Amino acid sequence: MAGAESGSQKKVFDAEAASFLVKELRESFGSGRTRSYEWRVSQVKALLKAVVENEDQIVDALRSDLAKPPLETVVYEVGMFKNSCEVILKELKHWMVPEKVKTSISTFPSSAEIVPEPLGVVLVISAWNYPILLSLDPVVGAIAAGNAVVLKPSEIAPASSSLLAKLIEKYMDNSFIRVVEGAVDETTALLQQKWDKIFYTGNGKVGRIVMTAAAKHLTPVVLELGGKSPVVVDSNINLKVAARRIISGKWGLNNGQACISPDYIITTKDCAPKLVDVLKTELENCYGKNPLESEDLSRIVSSNHFARLSKLLNDDKVSGKIAYGGEKDEKKLRIAPTVLLDVPQDSLIMGEEIFGPLLPIITVNKVEESIDVINSGSKPLAAYIFTNNKKFKEQFVKNVSAGGLLVNDTVLHLVVHTLPFGGVGESGMGAYHGKFSFDAFTHKKAVLYRSFAGDASLRYPPYTDTKLRL
Ligand code: NAD
Repeated sequence: MAGAESGSQKKVFDAEAASFLVKELRESFGSGRTRSYEWRVSQVKALLKAVVENEDQIVDALRSDLAKPPLETVVYEVGMFKNSCEVILKELKHWMVPEKVKTSISTFPSSAEIVPEPLGVVLVISAWNYPILLSLDPVVGAIAAGNAVVLKPSEIAPASSSLLAKLIEKYMDNSFIRVVEGAVDETTALLQQKWDKIFYTGNGKVGRIVMTAAAKHLTPVVLELGGKSPVVVDSNINLKVAARRIISGKWGLNNGQACISPDYIITTKDCAPKLVDVLKTELENCYGKNPLESEDLSRIVSSNHFARLSKLLNDDKVSGKIAYGGEKDEKKLRIAPTVLLDVPQDSLIMGEEIFGPLLPIITVNKVEESIDVINSGSKPLAAYIFTNNKKFKEQFVKNVSAGGLLVNDTVLHLVVHTLPFGGVGESGMGAYHGKFSFDAFTHKKAVLYRSFAGDASLRYPPYTDTKLRL
C-alpha cells in the first residue's frame, strides 16, 4: 500500500513516489513471472480468497461508506466478483492459447497466429458507488491477462478504500499488485506516469482528464462512464412486473447511485398515471410508509451529492411535479424514492445524470416517439424498454444506440458475462466482463511464420514489365 496514513506520519504520494512505483513494477514485470498461467491463476485465487474470507468486513465497509444493505453488497459486490473469478478460473487456459488463423496466398508457404500478450503495467482508477466490485473486477481482469497493476480506489468511499489496500497488501503478490489510496493529488501523480493501459471508472469530466493525461504517453484507455439511462414503458404490458423491475434497478441498486440505474422514464400520456399508481403501491410494498427509515435503501454518499440532488429537486421547473416521495433527511444523508411526473425537458433534472433516488417521468403522445427523445441526447450507458409489441422492440434495438440494451427488465444485462459491458459516445469507450476483461488488458500480437522456401522473385527489384504483368 502506498500513500496512506501510518500513525501520525502522513506519507506524501507525489509524482516522484508514483514514478518510483511504476519503475519498480516495470522491473518486476520484466522478470516475466506474470506471463505464466500458474502465476495468473494463483493471483486470481488469492484475490477470490481475500474477498471470501473477508465478506463480513466488506459488508461493514459498505455499510459505513453508503449504508448499503448487506444483501446488495453480498449480491452485487461480492457475488458478482466471485462469478468473474469463477469464469476466469474456468476459461483462462483456453483464452491464453494463441489463435491459429488463415494466411494469404501472397505469403505462401506460411502459417499465422494471434498471440495474446500482457500489456505490461496498468492503472485502474475506480469509483465510490460499487467500490469493491468496480476496483476488483478490472484488477482481476488485468491479472488474468498477465499484467502488473496499480489500483487507485475512490476516496469518497474511505472504508472500502482502506479495506482494499489492506487486503491487497495481505493476500496478493505485491511485487506486481499494489494499491495507492488518495484523491485528486495522488491520482494526478499517478496519471503523470507512463502506463500501458489506464482503466478508469467514474464521471465524464474526470474521464476527459484521464484521457488527456494518457494521450501524452499514447496510453490506451478504457473509460467506464455514465449517462442518462432511459426506461421506455409501453402501455400494453404487465405494469406491475415492469414497476417492480424498475424499482429493483433504480432504488434496489444503491438507491439510484449506479451507472446503469434507470435515470428517467418515457411513457405515453395515457399510461403515465397508471404507471405512477403501480409504482406507488410497489414502492410502499418494498420500503414501507416511511422509506427514510428503511434499512433496505442506501444513503446518499456525501453532503456534496446530497446538495446536488436537493438542487435538482428544488428547481422551479419541477415544483409541483412530485408524484411520490420527496422526503429528505440532511443529517442522515437520506433521500426517499421520489417519482416526478411530467417533467419538462429543459429542467435541471433532465440536464444531467441524476445518480440518486429521483425518477422523473416524461410523457409523449405515442411510445414510438421515445426513440427520437433518446437519440436527441448523448448516448446512454444503458437503455431499457418494456413492451409486448414485437415491431416496436425491433425498432428500438435497431435505432437506439447505448452501451447496452435490455428488453423487459432493468440492469440484468450486467450479470451476463458473455456480454461486453461498456459505454459508447459520452458513456464511455472499451468494455469488460468475462472474456472482454481479459481482452481489455491484452495485446493481440499478430505473428506470421515463414520458412526459407517460396522465395518468389516478384517482390525484388528490378521491377520489370514482366513482373508488373504477373
Ligand atoms: P469518484 O468521485 O469516485 O471519482 C472516480 C475516480 O476519479 C476516483 O478514484 C477519484 O479519485 C478520481 N478523480 C476525481 N477527480 C479527479 C481529478 N480531478 N483528477 C484525477 N482523478 C480524479 O466517482 P464519480 O465520478 O462521482 O462516479 C460517478 C460517475 O461514475 C457517474 O457518472 C457514474 O455513471 C459513473 N460510473 C460508471 C460506471 C461504469 O461501469 N460505467 C460505474 C460506476 C460509476
